[in-house]
Amino acid sequence: MIRIDGVSKVYRASHGEVRAVDDLSLTIDSGEFVALKGHSGSGKSTLLSLIGGLALPSSGSVEVNGQVLPELSSAERARFREEQIGFVFQMFHLLPYLNVLDNVMLAASNGARAESASYAKELLGKFGLNDRITHRPGQLSAGERQRVAMARALLNRPKLLLADEPTGNLDEDNANALLDLVVEFHQEGGTIVLATHDAAAAARAQRIVELSSGKAVRN
Ligand code: ADP
Ligand code: MG
Repeated sequence: MIRIDGVSKVYRASHGEVRAVDDLSLTIDSGEFVALKGHSGSGKSTLLSLIGGLALPSSGSVEVNGQVLPELSSAERARFREEQIGFVFQMFHLLPYLNVLDNVMLAASNGARAESASYAKELLGKFGLNDRITHRPGQLSAGERQRVAMARALLNRPKLLLADEPTGNLDEDNANALLDLVVEFHQEGGTIVLATHDAAAAARAQRIVELSSGKAVRN
């Protein structure tokens, strides 16, 4: 479960302070699929970063699966991410000089590489990428790239998937194919927080939390 309690995130910019997240409280149960909806600048990416332990709140508490993230060291937060979280981003974040399999294997910890390699191939096969395993990202369509990023996110069998505008660079068919994989992860028991400004993507979630100026206006 995710428990966000009175959380603010303040950035200091040249023109003053920006409250990217403003005294937000929100609870997400294990196994929920929640969409964070809102205009650009409403705080969606910042909130995902806080839930994933990539950023720390300026005030308030973020607890994920029993761990209070601001109380962890950066090494403990890195381990928390590796063990519990899968990330998917709008821009895919694949390394251009690695092939598809090696991009997915970037997420593998050293201890379990052989096991991870077979699971990576299983995921890529399931995502329709069997004949793309030795291709580089530049040789793939946007939809294929995002399915590679999804395989990388799922490699460590995370409990929680954080997706930041994952369909933002996809056409409708590829967006739907990607969202089908997200829904499948949910049906297998995973928890999902998906940030999107796209109503069709948000409609795939069980619950929509709407953000405006860092506050939840509909929850
Ligand atoms: P969204 O993902 O909904 O577009 P963001 O969380 O990216 O919103 O941004 C929320 C607000 O915080 C925006 O006003 C943005 O300009 C500001 N912001 C985000 N990251 C930073 C940063 N690193 N430094 C300063 N301001 C930031
Ligand atoms: Mg964003």
